[in-house]
Formats: sequence, C-alpha cells, structure tokens
Amino acid sequence: MNPMTQSDTLFQRAQHSIPGGVNSPVRAFKAVGGTPPFIQSAQGARVVDVDNRHYIDYIGSWGPMICGHAHPEVVEAVQKAMSRGASFGAPTEKEVQLAETIINLVPSIEMVRLVNSGTEATMSAVRLARAATGRDSLLMFEGCYHGHGDAFLAKAGSGLATFGVPSSPGVPQATVQQTLTLPYNNLQAVNDLFARHDAGIAAVIVEPVAGNMGCVPPEPGFLQGLATICRRHGTLLIFDEVMTGFRVARGGAQELYGVTPDLTTLGKIIGGGLPVGAYGGRRDLMQQIAPSGPVYQAGTLSGNPLATAAGLATLNILSQPGFYETLEWRCQRLCAGISSILESNAIPHVATRVGSMFGLFFTNNKTVKNFDEANTSDRIRFNRWFHGMLQQGIFLAPSQFEAGFLSIAHDDAIIDATLDAAQQVAFTLTVP
Ligand SMILES: *Cc1c(COP(=O)(O)O)cnc(C)c1O
Repeated sequence: MNPMTQSDTLFQRAQHSIPGGVNSPVRAFKAVGGTPPFIQSAQGARVVDVDNRHYIDYIGSWGPMICGHAHPEVVEAVQKAMSRGASFGAPTEKEVQLAETIINLVPSIEMVRLVNSGTEATMSAVRLARAATGRDSLLMFEGCYHGHGDAFLAKAGSGLATFGVPSSPGVPQATVQQTLTLPYNNLQAVNDLFARHDAGIAAVIVEPVAGNMGCVPPEPGFLQGLATICRRHGTLLIFDEVMTGFRVARGGAQELYGVTPDLTTLGKIIGGGLPVGAYGGRRDLMQQIAPSGPVYQAGTLSGNPLATAAGLATLNILSQPGFYETLEWRCQRLCAGISSILESNAIPHVATRVGSMFGLFFTNNKTVKNFDEANTSDRIRFNRWFHGMLQQGIFLAPSQFEAGFLSIAHDDAIIDATLDAAQQVAFTLTVP
C-alpha cells in the first residue's frame, strides 16, 4: 500500500462537500481510476501538486493555456486590472478591444457578444439561430460536446425515430425532442436527414475538429459539405470553436479549412484561463441580440475586466509571428515521436493531431472518424499508459476521449523528456 498523499486526503475531504469531490466531472479520474493530483501552482509547461510533485502538463486547463501557465504578461495584465476594480456592471474599453481583436482574427465574425463560458455561448448561439430562422430543430453530431445546456444533452433515439432522447436525468424529453443527432463525418447521413426533415432545422452545430471524443479531425469535404447543405436549406451553420478557436490556427478551424459558418462560439483561449465565452458571426444575425434586437441574452459578469485583460494579453502573445508554426512543428515532433515508440513496441494505435491539439487511441482500427470508431479503443491499455506516464511526471488527459494540448512553453527539452517517459512506459504495455 502506498502511503496517503496530500491529494488523497484532499480528495477524500472534498467528497463530503463537493459532488464527487470535483467541480467538473472529468477531473475525478473516473475513466482511469485513482486520485487526481490536487494542483497548487503552475508555471510554463509544468504543474505542481500539493505533494510537491512536478508534472509536464498536456491538459492546459483543457485548452485555454496556449501561452503556458502564469505567463508574465497575462499575470501582469490581470493584476493591473484587479487593482482598478474587479467588476462594474457598466461597459469598459477592454471589452471593445477584445471584441475588435476577435473580429480581426476570426474570418466569419462581424460582431460578437462576450459571455462567461462556452456553455453560455452555445446556448445563446442556438437561441439566436432559432429566432432568426423561426425554426426549432437542431442537428448535432455524436461525440461532440457543446457544453451542458439542456438542448445538447441529447442522444439519438433508437430505430427510425429521429427524436433525440435525454442523455442526462433532469433534461425534459420535450427539450431534446428538437435535437437530432448523427454520426460525425457522415455527410450522406446529413443529406438523408435533410431530405426527410428540411423545413424544421434551425441550425447545424459542429465541432469543426472534434475534441471531446479524443481528437477527431474532419474528413476532407465534411465541413464544406455541411456549409453547402445548410445554405441550400436556409439552415444556419454554427461552428463550436470553443476548443478549436485560436488553437488549430490563429483564425480557428474556419481559417484552417476555409469554411465560413454563420455563427461561431468561442471560449477557453479567449479568456486566457479566466472564465470567458463568446458568440459571434454575421452582423445581420448578431443585431437581433438584445438590446439591438429582440433575442434576449444577458450576464452580470459578462465582459468582466479581469477576464478581458487575460484574454487580450493572451491574444496579443499568440499574434506574434511564428507562434503557430512553432506550436505546429513541436506538436508534430511530439506526436510522431510517441507514435514511433508505440510502433516499435508493436502497440496498435491511431494518433491524431490538428495543430497543437492531439489524440491517441489504442485501437486496431486504421482510422478514427467518429464516436463509434473512437469507442473501439482499449481502455485497459489506455489506463496503463495514462498511469505509467503520470508516474513518470507526464500529466495527460485522464481519458482516451479527451484531446491533449501543447503550449508555446513546451520547448524541445520538455518534448524530449516526454518522449523519454513514453519509451519507459511503452514496453510495459506489451506485458499482458
Ligand atoms: C469546453 C467546450 C464547451 C463548453 O465550454 P465551458 O466553458 O466548459 O462551458 C463547449 N464546446 C466545446 C467544443 C468545448 O470544447
């Protein structure tokens, strides 16, 4: 028996006061078992837990920390903002600056509204799409995550029924009846659905690179095809770029793949680690939001001075020339390195990557294109990999169904150390 760590003690204590001991389910390590390290601090590419163990971090707060933890410019910006007062409930110049920066960098966004989380952004974007089209139904894809709004907590019904069914207790059947769900990367299924259903679909919402079933890139033509079908049927296309925005490219997936959605949701990176979300898009649509239009949406802390300061500082850093090129080749080296180590140990796997976002599936399949294929992965092998790497001081996402993230602070030495650890762990995976 290992002695109790500080994290063990805190985790036990937390169970009494917080459901499952955590404030968001994935942090509880349910998929891999064991105690999650409680973090006391972080700097650059590393986090330190309450037992003073240091880890190279590939979670990056699930995406926001693209500049690395506690970047001095972000820290300074937030400290300055705090010293001027945390929140006013009245407009500030920084909000205008952040909106203008987002509009400058994301191709399809002409106007934008700031909110406090990705969940709020997607809920609001769907409300707007329903208002603008006068339709109620929504199409999403299996394995995509759009936050925890009721309308998104749906899964496909069985058989021929196209009505969604709730994927969580507490979600009214009536709410998700309007949510249709199809397999990711299956354009034919989308065409078939529209042929049967066309009048009622307000919006198609999609993660342009899926990052919540592991990292699953779009097949060539998938996003373009969605845009074409939507245009033909008067349906709005919503890119949920809460994860991919400022991650897979400076202008997000829409810039990378050259596809223009009607509406875009953002979050994670635009808050630089503070709670922010945003939704934006075509001016004629965004002008329907209150108070310029009738579609209601509001927020006491929206456009919060600390959050906008952190977001602006982060967007300023990632606007430097070469930022994305550096991330790209470093992540490429990391993923190719891990893949070749696994290969030389004859461990079947699929490694995926778009920019600095990556996934690893222990499957015999040749590709992973949707949720069913992601589900063919060997969970026991993944758990061994995950815990082996954690013991080596490498903190990976605690589930095969989550993407990993690199920051600009992950330099060559950090990647070398990660590959050394992978070498140690890979051969243990071959033992039955
Ligand atoms: C994280 C995420 C969300 C939800 O954002 P929160 O800030 O956690 O509410 C929505 N969509 C996608 C694609 C995400 O990755």
